[in-house]
Amino acid sequence: MAQQEDVFKKIVSHCKEYGFVFPSSDIYDGLGAVYDYGQNGVELKNNIKQYWWQFMTLLHDNIVGIDSAIFMHPTIWKASGHVDAFNDPLIDNRDSKKRYRADVLIEDQIAKYDEKIDKEVAKAAKRFGDAFDEAQFRATNARVLENQAKRDALHERFSVAMNANDLEGLKQIIIDEEIACPISGTRNWTDVRQFNLMFSTEMGSTAEGASKIYLRPETAQGIFVNYLNVQKTGRMKIPFGIAQIGKAFRNEIVARQFIFRMREFEQMEMQFFVKPGTELQWFEEWKKRRMAWHQALGFGAENYRFHDHEKLAHYANAASDVEFHMPFGFKEVEGIHSRTDFDLSQHAKFSGKKIEYFDPEENRSYTPYVIETSIGVDRMFLSVMCHSYEEQKLADGQTRTVLHLPAALAPIKLAVFPLTKKDGLPEKAREIVNELQYHFKCVYEEKDQIGKRYRRQDAIGTPFCVTVDPDTLTDGCVTLRDRDTMEQQRVKIEDLRSLIEDKVSITSLLKKLK
Ligand code: ATP
Repeated sequence: MAQQEDVFKKIVSHCKEYGFVFPSSDIYDGLGAVYDYGQNGVELKNNIKQYWWQFMTLLHDNIVGIDSAIFMHPTIWKASGHVDAFNDPLIDNRDSKKRYRADVLIEDQIAKYDEKIDKEVAKAAKRFGDAFDEAQFRATNARVLENQAKRDALHERFSVAMNANDLEGLKQIIIDEEIACPISGTRNWTDVRQFNLMFSTEMGSTAEGASKIYLRPETAQGIFVNYLNVQKTGRMKIPFGIAQIGKAFRNEIVARQFIFRMREFEQMEMQFFVKPGTELQWFEEWKKRRMAWHQALGFGAENYRFHDHEKLAHYANAASDVEFHMPFGFKEVEGIHSRTDFDLSQHAKFSGKKIEYFDPEENRSYTPYVIETSIGVDRMFLSVMCHSYEEQKLADGQTRTVLHLPAALAPIKLAVFPLTKKDGLPEKAREIVNELQYHFKCVYEEKDQIGKRYRRQDAIGTPFCVTVDPDTLTDGCVTLRDRDTMEQQRVKIEDLRSLIEDKVSITSLLKKLK
């Protein structure tokens, strides 16, 4: 585990050192849980967004996009339930003055019981070797059974308290379980309070005339309030979807783990409108489609899993997260939710407008049900970084740091180097860049010796490098080097485009999904 934490720290500093992610307002020592994307980060982020956008809007002829404003009518957040219910239970430790989410403290405690059980199992497996029957061991070992019973009882109590919004109940669990603050080590806790995660500001020029508005905590509501506009103007027939990428803001209580939990972040959300009664079929279908999208990146199926929600949000009748294996455990990157007709019905009620769909096949009107897929761009970015980062031991004893980014997501696709800065080599190299830059992102680099230039490109995940040498001027060939295998081959300049373009295009990923 400690080793994994080290790796994570290295990834965070790599992100800064190579122009992927900087702390926001860095020269003023940063701003809590807000980050900026640098010259390489923005390219990677844009490619992730393109991959998602094209999957949604190119591969599905019944999904269209929108781009709604961040500021919205304040009543929207009343209707959606966010003003009353978008809360986290928070608790402070009086000694360390640190603030925690009460639910997370308890979830961590549940995870501790799981760890204890896993340790017993691992120990026994070692002791018994091939003869080990894990199922039998789990069903009969006294220590495992004791911990399992404690875990299950705690889990049950926790679910009941969360579902009932019982803040005293949550505090009592923390006391009974003797949960201590990880910083001070004490159990000197305040009461648990609800904390609304929405940021607010004022709109209007005069104090009297100004009204309180919110920075949207999700992009989804921008889609719901445009449902009628899009359905009518696009003459959309159910089932159909509306996709949107945009910023969202949440005043997170505990913002740790780099860009995993931010106060300003970006979401890619798609709301799919379906006939009532068909929503659970569509829910399963979208789970499948979204998992395929993730796995087409080639990070290995074993690094993903679904986690079904036990405490369903006030609007949902089914919900599941796509979790990815980060260096700090399996964590949510995407949520897939069956939101029923909750949002459209609420907006109909609060706006006084009829929000329905006339189904020509059934010759009747109804309020559509909704399946939502909601993924954080930044969390996706983090999972791509974590999976791609490697410190590789080479045969000659050296190490190289390499980002094995999927070529379609890499910020730069091709780096072109003249072997030396003279004899017309720089001009030839620039000629290649000038030709290929219309097809994919290229850079020209002449500083330092070739080995160093390769390392710099490895560190930002550039899949291909090309070197121009004196022979190039006579034979029209260059050396093409592959980032992952480090193999080099001599190829004709005029073949470069066809050798590279397909491999680095988003289309190459999308084709795996058809
Ligand atoms: P969590 O339980 O981690 O707070 P959530 O269940 O509240 O997340 P949703 O409301 O379902 O998250 O949001 C959908 C997606 O938006 C998440 O899967 C995640 O990728 C992203 N997301 C949510 N909150 C944040 C945040 N504070 N920073 C970065 N990404 C976020």
